[in-house]
Amino acid sequence: MFTWQPWAVPLLLSAVASLLAARVIWHRCGTSPAATALVVLVLGAALWSGMRGAGMLFADLAQQSVFSLLIYPGVCAVVLGLYCHARALTDRRWTWNWRRHWWLLIEPALCVVLALTNPTHGLFRSDFRLEGDPPILYSEGGPFFQLHTWYSYALLGAAFAVLLRGAFRVSATHRRRFVLPIVGGLFPTAGNVLSVVIVPDFPVDLTSILFLVTATTCAWAMLNSALPDVLPIALSQVVATIGDAVLVVDRQQRIVEVNPAADTLLRALTPQVLPSQAPAKLVGTCLREIADPMGPDPSTTRAEQRTVAVERLDRHLDLRTAPLTDSKGACIGWVLVARDVTQALRQQADLERQRAEAVAASEALREQLDLVEQLRRELAEQATRDPLTGLFNRRRMVDFLSRDVPAALTGGHPVSLLMMDVDKFKAVNDTHGHTTGDAVLTAVACALSEGLRAEELLARFGGEEFVLVLPGVTLEEALARAEVLRARCAQVEVGAPDGTRVRTTISIGAAGLVPSTQGPGAWVSGARVPDTNGLLLAADGALYAAKAGGRNRVVSSGVLTEQIIEQATALH
Ligand code: GH3
Ligand code: MG
Ligand code: MG
Repeated sequence: MFTWQPWAVPLLLSAVASLLAARVIWHRCGTSPAATALVVLVLGAALWSGMRGAGMLFADLAQQSVFSLLIYPGVCAVVLGLYCHARALTDRRWTWNWRRHWWLLIEPALCVVLALTNPTHGLFRSDFRLEGDPPILYSEGGPFFQLHTWYSYALLGAAFAVLLRGAFRVSATHRRRFVLPIVGGLFPTAGNVLSVVIVPDFPVDLTSILFLVTATTCAWAMLNSALPDVLPIALSQVVATIGDAVLVVDRQQRIVEVNPAADTLLRALTPQVLPSQAPAKLVGTCLREIADPMGPDPSTTRAEQRTVAVERLDRHLDLRTAPLTDSKGACIGWVLVARDVTQALRQQADLERQRAEAVAASEALREQLDLVEQLRRELAEQATRDPLTGLFNRRRMVDFLSRDVPAALTGGHPVSLLMMDVDKFKAVNDTHGHTTGDAVLTAVACALSEGLRAEELLARFGGEEFVLVLPGVTLEEALARAEVLRARCAQVEVGAPDGTRVRTTISIGAAGLVPSTQGPGAWVSGARVPDTNGLLLAADGALYAAKAGGRNRVVSSGVLTEQIIEQATALH
């Protein structure tokens, strides 16, 4: 009854491997239409190999013949499985639908019926015979078998065409997903063509074994290219979730796709057209009719961005429009993304206002700082001025003497100093009063100020005494200037309250300094710091002499020596 046939081994092993593969695919690839079709294919291959291998172990021709006809449900399942797998793989929306795909079952059903009823008509396979040792079953294909074969090739060809089209359409990154099943499908097809068409006397049909290769490559491609399945769904969910309004309109600006944010926005924009509650149909509606400012400019074939003010809602929208193009680059519609930027614009306006306020505040602060600086300068100036006459005060004069005079001397210039005192001023006060005395002092100060050069300094030294420092002026020149001043002051006349005209005179003591390089008679040794205090004391001494000499006169300190300076210093 049984016989040993070595060819049965690979076939039975292939059947077991196919069953295991079906289990693995079912668990690893999920229950998607593509995975289910692959399971059908592998189970078909298992039946095909199993029946073929099992039949070989029977010695009897009739038994082998029966088993050889039992492979056809498997054969049909393999072909149908591969076709459905290709369809599902290239179109993620494809799924088995009994109403739509019933015709695919006609041929398998006929094939199985004809194969199982073959012993009664012999139109499927005929001329069954055993040849060789151990014996191998051979038979001839009848007309229905030929029809079945060409139908199967056609369906397999359709599957390859679908996969090829998918491979050309996707990007290079995802091409492998379609190329691998094509490559895997070529193995059994080639094996079948070889064993059925080219070498019909080949002892064993290896097609069912080779379909295991197809199943493996298909499963591998599915497992390693899962991303494209997820991507479109993920993208559509992202678009549905984001807060930006996303709209797709066709060339006539009819809405093709709209996400929930866009739905809400459009209803808010046009409550009279699209009530917020009623389930108005947005898809198919012309965008221009419901929300004019959002409609893309029909001439726009480039991506654009603009801000749209929606006055009725007191909102601003950042509207981006990008054209959608077909494979030839022709514009077939637009995608619009609208974002509510009202808050951002308000914040920007607030920031700009705050910046303007800050600029204004800093300007005001700068003005105040300028004012403070001006006041400080005025205060500093006032600190050096005599309030009655407006001349520099004694402090400023001392500063001048200690800073500017030594600089003039070291620069090789002489310096002279006039010390002036109003004659018998006490009598003015006593006779005409202090106010008149002040007026006289002011008038004298005014007379002394006339004709001053910028580098000269006139100060009220104290009481009714004035000092004029003359850098760059020799003693001789200073005496001439003193004479002029004395004469001018003698002309000063001030009206007293009692109507009398008050006149006065001044006495002047003059002293001079020259740099040591001026000669052996130099007053100050070049090796020593110039003694400006000595100059003051010398002038004071000369003034004293002028007073003693009868007043209203100019007296020079004469040729002074260091000894005289020391004596004068000691006197004071
Ligand atoms: P001499 O010719 O010797 O200088 O006599 P004199 O009277 O001018 O000198 P004395 O020192 O005796 O008097 C100076 C007077 O100047 C005394 C003081 O009251 C007066 N005096 C000082 N400062 C002021 C002032 O600011 N205003 C007025 N009105 N008088 C002042
Ligand atoms: Mg005096
Ligand atoms: Mg006096």
